[in-house]
Amino acid sequence: MVLEITQIGNPVLRDICVEVPKDRLLDEDFQAFVDDLIETKRHANGAGIAAPQVGEPWRIFVVEVKDNPRYPYKPEAVLTVCINPKITFLTKERYDNYEGCLSIPDLRGKVPRCPLIRVEALDRNGKKFTREVKGITAGTFQHENDHLDGILFPDRVTDYHSLSTWAEFKLRQEDGVRTSVEAIVAKWGE
Ligand code: ZN
Repeated sequence: MVLEITQIGNPVLRDICVEVPKDRLLDEDFQAFVDDLIETKRHANGAGIAAPQVGEPWRIFVVEVKDNPRYPYKPEAVLTVCINPKITFLTKERYDNYEGCLSIPDLRGKVPRCPLIRVEALDRNGKKFTREVKGITAGTFQHENDHLDGILFPDRVTDYHSLSTWAEFKLRQEDGVRTSVEAIVAKWGE
């Protein structure tokens, strides 16, 4: 089922989300919620989505990038469900990630992100996994993980002149961003 996406101004987007209890995780209704989250992300062409974006303050997000019309220059990222995740930065380096958000219509901006992170989380079956995530995909994971702490990408924009509508971005920024994304992928992978 495609769920309604909450929009900036809705207080649920500012909640500190709560951990999903392990016994709750395997419930049929929670598993159905995970399916709905994935379906909603795909329907809206998001690179990722977090539970508060559909009104549920749980610590769960989903990342997946494949032939994405919103982000045609983003490298593909396999579907990953992260429950109760913990992210550790593995380098002091940062790069500029040009972000948008399904909960913030028609706004994009540059956010400094760490290009090498470790993600520890439970998968949808409650199994713990650890994964290193690099480059542009690492930026997507940080964006989604921020949602679980009530942080939205404009909170992290340092260069306010980078704020742009999607049309202005396409017109003025996309070619340059494509080149810098290629450089980040060449350096960090993914
Ligand atoms: Zn978002």
